[in-house]
Amino acid sequence: NLSDRLTASFKQLRGKGRLSEADIDATVSEIRRALLEADVALPVVRAFAANVRERAKSAEVSAALNPGQQVIKIVNAELVEILGGEARDLRFAKNPPTVIMLAGLQGAGKTTLAGKLGRWLRDQGHTPLLVAADLQRPNAVTQLQVVGERAGVPVWAPEPGNGVGDPVGVARSGIQHAHDKQYSVVVVDTAGRLGVDAEMMQQAADIRDAVSPDEILFVLDAMIGQDAVTTANAFAEGVGFSGVVLTKLDGDARGGAALSVRGVTGKPVMFASTGEKLTDFERFHADRMASRILDMGDILTLIEQAERTFDAAQAEEMAAKISGEGDFTLQDFLGQLQQLKKMGSMKKMLGMLPGMGQMREQLENFDEREVDRVEAIVHSMTPAERVDPRILNGSRRQRIARGSGTTVTEVNSLMERFDQAKTMMRQMARSGGKGGVPGMGM
Ligand code: GDP
Ligand code: MG
Repeated sequence: NLSDRLTASFKQLRGKGRLSEADIDATVSEIRRALLEADVALPVVRAFAANVRERAKSAEVSAALNPGQQVIKIVNAELVEILGGEARDLRFAKNPPTVIMLAGLQGAGKTTLAGKLGRWLRDQGHTPLLVAADLQRPNAVTQLQVVGERAGVPVWAPEPGNGVGDPVGVARSGIQHAHDKQYSVVVVDTAGRLGVDAEMMQQAADIRDAVSPDEILFVLDAMIGQDAVTTANAFAEGVGFSGVVLTKLDGDARGGAALSVRGVTGKPVMFASTGEKLTDFERFHADRMASRILDMGDILTLIEQAERTFDAAQAEEMAAKISGEGDFTLQDFLGQLQQLKKMGSMKKMLGMLPGMGQMREQLENFDEREVDRVEAIVHSMTPAERVDPRILNGSRRQRIARGSGTTVTEVNSLMERFDQAKTMMRQMARSGGKGGVPGMGM
């Protein structure tokens, strides 16, 4: 098991201060093995490992994580990014109906998906129509009708007059029907074979040409393993597709197919099918898939904990150090602002403070919402950052701004004002005060 192996390799790495080439190589080769075990195609694994190695070399050294953990963190981030981050939305046609065509091998889960997609679209306020353009298997049409009934979505099936025995004709008449009856989305179910073959591919291409789909979704069984790449390539060439749906993720496949297909075709995975029921269907989540592929949910949690614990420990250490020096921290600053806010109007209070005459002009421009912003900013800092703002580099400031709904400029300006306040407090402390706002009982 990968977790065990990695834990073992970490033991050797622990205690080293920085990422050496050997550290990186050791972890990357374990990751390579993990990816291959997850059925990621070899060329994709190679490219990925090379990427990670580059990134690890230039990574800032973390004091919180050991080298192995740090590499894994990089691997995970890279995986999430390559898997596409946030799933993209379906493209809807300007002029309805939007046409979504499903393509994939027999048994991949297309017909099941048609029902799930129909239900999902209906729940979102669309009026979908399912079209049965798989006339290959004797029961294919009936299967779609059953699925449609369950989903509460109408099905266009071949009848005498709309192309019995002719999947292209059925597809074309289905789109016409959707136009006439104003369905907003048409999902076209197509036939597949157990293996890729030219005739099936041609049929799918003919249907594509007849219905000009807005989306062609390539439906891929996650259990198919290393064959994913061959199949994806064949469909990319034979029919082309704009997005991928991964099915049978409720099984024990590790999901490497997602990475392979993404790596080889560049097309995003958009949805995930996780069972036979209509509701076993969701938008694709790159972060979940990444930890599934790595099979390291536990280690990723451990890494987060390590970072948090480190931050807290460092905060305590710094707090002890700083309080020894009688210094004034952001935490104190926030505490005072909060007290002032509690006590009433900020402007009035500050106006009443002795020794603030010169500041009156500035006070006139004082915005009470400022306190809320300051609060948000300070709350978005880690304990270590609150105690020692000197560690606030550019990326930390960016994270804080994001977390507090402010801008980096606002964060910078708070830090400047905090520095001024600190200087003021130091002067007051020197002149005999206890470091609080004078005359306020603090
Ligand atoms: P098609 O040939 O591509 O249309 O595939 P089907 O929709 O007929 O599905 C083939 C089989 O896989 C059926 O027995 C489905 O119930 C099953 N199936 C489809 N999607 C999933 C899924 O996400 N999880 C599981 N466990 N089974 C699925
Ligand atoms: Mg089918």
